Amino acid sequence: MRIGILGGGQLGWMTILEGRKLGFEFLVLDKSTSSPACKISDLCFDYEKVDEFVKLCDVITYEFEHIPDEVLEKTSYLTLPSVEVLKLKKSKVEEKVFLRKRGYPVPNFTVATNEDLERAADMFELPVVVKSESLGYDGKGQYLIKEKGKLKDVKSNHPQGRFLVEEFVDFDFELSIIGVRNAKGEALIYPPTINHHEEGILIYNKSTDLAFPEAKEITKSLIEELNIVGLLCVEFFYTKDGKLLINEIAPRAHNTGHYTLDGSYTSQFENLIRAITGLPLGSTKLKSPSGMINIIGKSYEEMDIRKVLSVDGAKLYWYGKEKRYRRKMGHVNVVGSSQEDVERKLEYLYDVLFESLKC
Ligand code: AMP
Repeated sequence: MRIGILGGGQLGWMTILEGRKLGFEFLVLDKSTSSPACKISDLCFDYEKVDEFVKLCDVITYEFEHIPDEVLEKTSYLTLPSVEVLKLKKSKVEEKVFLRKRGYPVPNFTVATNEDLERAADMFELPVVVKSESLGYDGKGQYLIKEKGKLKDVKSNHPQGRFLVEEFVDFDFELSIIGVRNAKGEALIYPPTINHHEEGILIYNKSTDLAFPEAKEITKSLIEELNIVGLLCVEFFYTKDGKLLINEIAPRAHNTGHYTLDGSYTSQFENLIRAITGLPLGSTKLKSPSGMINIIGKSYEEMDIRKVLSVDGAKLYWYGKEKRYRRKMGHVNVVGSSQEDVERKLEYLYDVLFESLKC
């Protein structure tokens, strides 16, 4: 059976690494044929060859959101999770409006155009968070506005398109939950993780002994409501007064689930493959306390591999991408005998990997 992947980044790369073990072949469609997943695929196509790509695939999935509409039109009939969910996700505005309409807890927000951005920001106390409607990820297109004068820069950076203007959530911490569901409607939920971001980008995350039953219920409910066949990640803020608010959802493998490669009985990537090919889902249980730390904006030579691998239970995943400022270049998974043990290892790796990073 041949599985097509839209997008050639690290999520596709790890999906292929895991899916090969199950005996599948992989075809990748990406704008660049030198992307990590393309390099290890059976066949790789650029966007112009989409017709050829579709003809050869039995089922298609995606590993990032920003796929051109012309490509989606040609691939949608084979694509899981459905392209409708992906379209919702392509607009930060539509995503939040959908969640609020359906009664899910989200931060207070309003929608603005370039012309009425000031008026929209006036609806909340400063600071506010302004997010451009599309093409924003890892904190791109996102602005923390502490004084109204700064809105001018936002407007000139984004002359077109709408904005989401959100109250600033003074959260205690962030968490996320990943769920997987197959076409029969069987669904399983991975345990929650606590996530640490800096300047809009995930730095590390770790398993937790806390259960967060409400967050699990929300994830289960969304996965059903969106009729997901594949994965859904839900990212939450946990506010200082103990409330859960959804920050965003992602109908694909997620950076906060990379730890599952080493910490879980079945990785998120293997379960994605199982779900979209109609196989039984694998256990989402943790084998041991686990964590993950990203490697950001560093070349292979700049990363001290000896120090990284000296950590007992550490596994390096290097994506083979060209170094760029703030770019995710790889990650390290850690497992430990206890939560504290994992935290100690992450602290050590943070010092090794981030001592000189400005991100
Ligand atoms: P996003 O790109 O929307 O996922 O945001 C990336 C990160 O920015 C989040 O994980 C938070 O750390 C931070 N962030 C986003 N929205 C808000 C908000 N309304 N209040 C406080 N922090 C936020």
